[in-house]
Formats: sequence, C-alpha cells, structure tokens
Amino acid sequence: MSPATTLVVGAGYAGSVMARELADAGRQVLVIDKRPHIAGNAYDELDAHGVLVHRYGPHIFHTNGQRIFEYLSRFTAWRPYEHRVRGVVDGVAYPFPINRDTLNRLYGLELDEAGAAAFFERVREPREPALTSEDVVLNSVGRDLYEKFFLNYTRKQWGLDPSQLKAGVAARIPVRTNSDDRYFTDTWQVMPLHGYTKMFEAMLDHPLITVELGVDFAAVRRRGGFGHVVYTGPIDAYFGHRYGPLPYRSLRFEHEHLAGVAQYQDTGTVNYPNDHAYTRITEFKHLTGQQHAGTSIVREYPQAEGDPYYPVPRAENEALFKRYEELSKHEGGVTFVGRLAQYRYYNMDQVVGAALVTARHLLA
Ligand code: FAD
Ligand code: UDP
Repeated sequence: MSPATTLVVGAGYAGSVMARELADAGRQVLVIDKRPHIAGNAYDELDAHGVLVHRYGPHIFHTNGQRIFEYLSRFTAWRPYEHRVRGVVDGVAYPFPINRDTLNRLYGLELDEAGAAAFFERVREPREPALTSEDVVLNSVGRDLYEKFFLNYTRKQWGLDPSQLKAGVAARIPVRTNSDDRYFTDTWQVMPLHGYTKMFEAMLDHPLITVELGVDFAAVRRRGGFGHVVYTGPIDAYFGHRYGPLPYRSLRFEHEHLAGVAQYQDTGTVNYPNDHAYTRITEFKHLTGQQHAGTSIVREYPQAEGDPYYPVPRAENEALFKRYEELSKHEGGVTFVGRLAQYRYYNMDQVVGAALVTARHLLA
C-alpha cells in the first residue's frame, strides 16, 4: 500500500460515503471491513428461501435532508415505503407512536383531536426541564401510558431504566393527537429499490476504490504503509480501551422463515413492550414490497455482549466518550466518523450527512 492511499476502516455508511467522496476527488482509497460484506449494519441479503432480509435488524430509510436523499439517489432507485408499528399491551395491538386512536381503543373513548390534546394535558406529569427519557414520556403522556408502552420496552432494550437514559432516546418517539399512525413523518420515506447492499455496491464501484473484506484494522495497522486513515469503528477500540470500555448495546437477531405464510403481521414491525425477551418482530416483505409465497421475520433480543450496535446515551458514557474524543483530536492523520466512532445515536441519513461534511473538511 502506498502512503498516498487513504485507508478507510469500515464499509458501512460512514466509510462508504467517505471513500466515494475521496475517490471522486481523485484520491486512491482502500476500504477494509472485518466482516465478510459491505454495507455495515444496513447489510441486506436473500435468505435461504429467497426473501430479502436485513441481517442486522430492520432498516427503514427516512430523512428531511434533501441533499442526503439526492446524494444516495446517485446510487439507487427507490420505492416509497411508510413504516407502521403496533405496540402490544395486554394482548391487544395498538397504533404506536401513541395517537388519538391508541387512546380511544385503549380506554374505550371517542376523542377527537382537541379531546386527545385535552386528555394528554390532564394525564401528563410536567417535568421542566425534561432531562431523562422518563421525564420526556411522563411530561407528554403521563404515568399509565409510560408504564404500558415505554418503561419495560426501555428496560429490555437498554438494560436501564428510562430515568437513567438521556432525554433524546425517548424523544425519538413523537406523541400525536391526530390519527397519523406512521412511525416517521419525514419528507422522504423510501427504501432502496434493489436493497441496501446493491446501493453500497454502486457507491463503492469506482476505479480509485479497492475493497478488502474480512480484514481487521489491527492487522493492517501493524503492517503500516498507508496515508490518511478514516476510522468508523468503535472509538474506544481504536485507543486500546485506554480509559476502559465505552458501553455499546448489542442485539441477538433471531431470523425465521415461515413457509407458505403470505403475511405474518399487519404492519412492518410489532413491538412487545411487556412480553417476551425480544423487543419487536419485523416482517421484511412489508419493508421491501417483495412478492413471495412465504415470509421472513426477525426478532430482536437485546444484550450487553456482542457486536456494538447502539451507543448508550447517558451522561457518564458521554463523559467517557469526551475523553476518547480528546485523544482523537491529537491523533494526527486519522479522521473519526460514524455512529461508533462519534458515539452518537445516529440514523442512517445522519451518518451520511456527517460523512459528507467530514469529507468536505478533509478535502479542503
Ligand atoms: P456501521 O454500519 O456499524 O459500520 C461500521 C463498520 O466498521 C462495520 O461494518 C464494522 O464491521 C467495521 N469495523 C469496525 N471495527 C473494525 C475494525 N477494527 N476493522 C475493520 N472493520 C471494522 N437507521 C435508520 O436510519 N433507520 C432504521 O430503521 C435503522 N434501524 C436500525 C436497526 C438496528 C437494529 C440498528 C443496530 C441500527 C439501525 N439504524 C437505523 C442505524 C444504522 O444502522 C446506522 O446509523 C448506520 O448503519 C451507521 O453506519 P456506520 O457506518 O456509522 O456504522
Ligand atoms: N421505545 C419504547 N417503546 C416502544 C418503542 C420505543 O419505550 O414501543 C423507546 C425505547 O427506549 C427505544 C426508544 O424509544 O430504545 C427509541 O425507539 P426506536 O424505535 O427509535 O429505536 P431503534 O429503532 O433505534 O431501535
């Protein structure tokens, strides 16, 4: 490898967008990933039965960023898809995020929009300022809905109480007084027409980009000989966990194919806040629009050990991250970007945005 080559560690959104931007600017780039495939956690593939599934759990693309949507549109066509979710409480599936219909069905009411707003006003427990995820939910929907839909789901997902998590985690979920039962309301809600992996293949298909899979940074680092490094893995691992491990939450994915079952559930995802060891079940055909005589689903079981999937947003972890970030500022010749390297609960579009900005700075 020549010192003129930029080494990109990780072939997910952060690494692939960086690689493409640098290559488009005339740089020679080597992308490595320790996994045997590109696309990071967005990787999708046909399962043994020919159904397109997301190996690392459901990925639904949504953004308000026109620039981000247009950027990715260079590499894929799209299909419109609006995600819908139900939350099961006492055996009944309710619209989630909580909206007017959730209230009406749960409590046997006939509220209109103004009625729903008045209902929330009556039951909410004002918390000013709302610092934790518990504050956020109690402040908007009060204790009963908190306990039915949020408390146990959050304990399962994070192994923590909502009071131990920053406000931003629960603030991802809106509360509605109308009957809109979409999970997202972003301007662009679309899925790559031929899947995420194909989109990444197109992004990395460039004469100045070489991709090597099944290669760990540790091995390349020992060999040396490369120029600038773009690192998108966990930041604590880069520094040998010098200050101790940064907590990341992991998941175990249980994939299942149901032969001869055309549809397993009514919506893309069903959440189980209070039952089971898994948090949710996703049926992929809703997301992809694929026609198939059978169907494939995935259950997500949260766990502490395993591949790092989520940074854990709480004050003490962010303080530890800041110490690693300080180290990273003095690490000449290395750029840190992405969900694991920046320890941010980023959605896909936010990672694309972060990588585009980072690439622009690097090239300036
Ligand atoms: P990653 O995709 O994690 O890529 C990092 C890559 O670096 C990995 O492939 C890893 O193997 C590689 N790597 C790490 N260390 C090394 C090393 N030492 N050597 C070589 N390679 C290394 N976002 C949405 O917008 N919508 C969704 O619906 C959505 N659903 C999600 C569901 C789940 C279950 C999860 C976990 C995430 C979801 N996300 C979703 C978030 C999305 O996955 C991330 O925002 C995005 O994939 C992050 O991209 P990244 O490049 O930063 O990291
Ligand atoms: N959440 C919850 N109940 C639900 C869905 C979400 O309590 O039925 C909380 C939980 O803390 C979760 C957070 O809201 O981690 C964010 O949910 P989201 O669906 O955005 O999580 P992701 O898709 O990133 O796993």
